[in-house]
Amino acid sequence: MSIDPEIAALPFYPIPEGESYCEVTPLVNGILNIPEAHIITPASSPTASYDAPTFSFYIKHEPSGKTLFFDLGIRYDWATSFEEELAGFITPSPPIILGDVGAILKEGGANPEDVSTVIISHRHWDHTGNIAPFPKAEVVGGIDTFIADLGRQTAGRQTLVIDWSKVKSSKIAAFDHAYDYFGDGSVWLVDSAGHTAGHLSALVRTTPSPNATYVLLSGDTCHHPFLISPTTHHFRLATFPTRGSSDKPRQHPALPPPCCMHSDMPRAWDTVCRTRRMEAEDNIMVVLAHDNVYWREWKGAEGRLWPSKKGIQGWKKQGLKLERKYEPEKYDRQ
Ligand SMILES: [Zn+2]
Repeated sequence: MSIDPEIAALPFYPIPEGESYCEVTPLVNGILNIPEAHIITPASSPTASYDAPTFSFYIKHEPSGKTLFFDLGIRYDWATSFEEELAGFITPSPPIILGDVGAILKEGGANPEDVSTVIISHRHWDHTGNIAPFPKAEVVGGIDTFIADLGRQTAGRQTLVIDWSKVKSSKIAAFDHAYDYFGDGSVWLVDSAGHTAGHLSALVRTTPSPNATYVLLSGDTCHHPFLISPTTHHFRLATFPTRGSSDKPRQHPALPPPCCMHSDMPRAWDTVCRTRRMEAEDNIMVVLAHDNVYWREWKGAEGRLWPSKKGIQGWKKQGLKLERKYEPEKYDRQ
């Protein structure tokens, strides 16, 4: 694999060594259909789209045994629990709901009440999920994460807001701000702003030092897995003029014109480049929240993954990391 020279030239700070690590198990509670032209430019066709998961990650911290989530997917009862305007925005192309994350976890024999932390990558409806099954969990998110439905759900709950102007942060790997959640280097919350101002990714150590390995859970840093390929390519984040049908064009008021998936495009691209730099490392595997490539590879007969799918902490030994390829021929719709 030849690395894009611009990506190879980005700063990369040392990652501290350490013994503690985490098991990381992906599970999926919803499926979205993503139009390619909304997320990558140039697109292969104006109508191409594919099904993508809403990944949640169940994380077990060793040696404490504490369990965490990174993202909670789509609230299973979104049609009745979201405000009318948001529900109306989602209704024209509704997600497929596979279950509530808490209930899915229980089916796999784990107790949601034991979950000590829920980290939410950002404020959007397809990530904030349903926190009710996790009554003891501290909910962690960036500066603009605790609004809308998550703001309502977390009223009276213990929360931790990662505000980079206030928390003690370090420069880690390709990121200028990282927060050491356990203080042992096993879970770093990193500043991956751009999609939203407070967007967080999580760099999780999956095997101990020496020669530690990591996964970078990247949320909605971008939506097309090929954008994080560290190889030289000409693809960029997409903008598009409107959403909705041609006879009834509509644009969500929260999105700036022209419509795009990111609130700050230059910052979003900067974060994509830093994430591409991470993907270039042999001991780091990046997984996006809607990573259809890994989902297609892992899901087998059970789209939800849990409990049939074992953790991905052994990804390096098992050869799970895939070279990112642009494969529009594998889309569900051309
Ligand atoms: Zn999303």
